[in-house]
Amino acid sequence: MYEKVSNILKMAKESNTAVIGFVCMDYVMARTVVYAAEATNTPALIMLYPEHVTVQHTTGFAKYAAMVKELANEVKVPIGLHCDHDFSYNAVLNTVQNGFESVMMDGSMHDLDTNIAMTKEVVDKLHEMGVCVEGEIGHVGAASNVDNDKEDLYTKPDAAAKFCKETGVDSLAVSIGNAHGEYKDTPHLDMERLDQIHAAVPDVPLVLHGGSGIPDDQLLIAFSKGINKFNLGTDYLRRYFNAISEFVAENAENPDPVKIINMPAYVQEKLQPYVEERLRTLCHF
Ligand SMILES: [Zn+2]
Repeated sequence: MYEKVSNILKMAKESNTAVIGFVCMDYVMARTVVYAAEATNTPALIMLYPEHVTVQHTTGFAKYAAMVKELANEVKVPIGLHCDHDFSYNAVLNTVQNGFESVMMDGSMHDLDTNIAMTKEVVDKLHEMGVCVEGEIGHVGAASNVDNDKEDLYTKPDAAAKFCKETGVDSLAVSIGNAHGEYKDTPHLDMERLDQIHAAVPDVPLVLHGGSGIPDDQLLIAFSKGINKFNLGTDYLRRYFNAISEFVAENAENPDPVKIINMPAYVQEKLQPYVEERLRTLCHF
């Protein structure tokens, strides 16, 4: 059942757990998440990474939103739709006008005052439209970038308090040792800092980006300390690639190329156990 992200975040906060936002580039990935969520009776979010539309042309914003809502309404469990990293007022507004009711305004590469001003402008406009907004403070960089270890990019608790108070964001992405993409070494989340951020903004659901590769024991601790949304992209995309590769390998000698029509079901069968396992292990609604 299609459900607003704000309601799912509220459920996660009440249960002291996190909802997983799966980055899905297409119908097969989205359908797999929806059916895994139903099989485990666990709410989940389908997330669009906007570059997949604007750069890779995988789909359009409106078609993506309509696809997720239709899929969500095939099942009973709550399924939310969220758009990840937009970087400007115009980009966010375009996303919303195409059917998204939950977006991220990422101004984290700017200084604090600029980030606050940009995010507040978005929140003021979108709250009038009933849309919920995730902001980011501190900067979650790329795991491939050595700069990401630098603690000066980590979220500062007092800055988080100021940011939330002045912008009115509905959720807040934090930088506590997490990073996007493939980690070179096992990451170690700064739990003490997370405690301090959670104490500074106890009512705001916190979001952990760069979820692929963080050990489960660290994730579960983080979820007990205010992380209520967890983004999973790299690992899911890699498994999608592997499943397609297996299909291609198994059908390399196939004399009938039209058998490609069997690929979506094959891939879903390969991926769904992984998504179900993630939901069962990490989410406790
Ligand atoms: Zn991110």
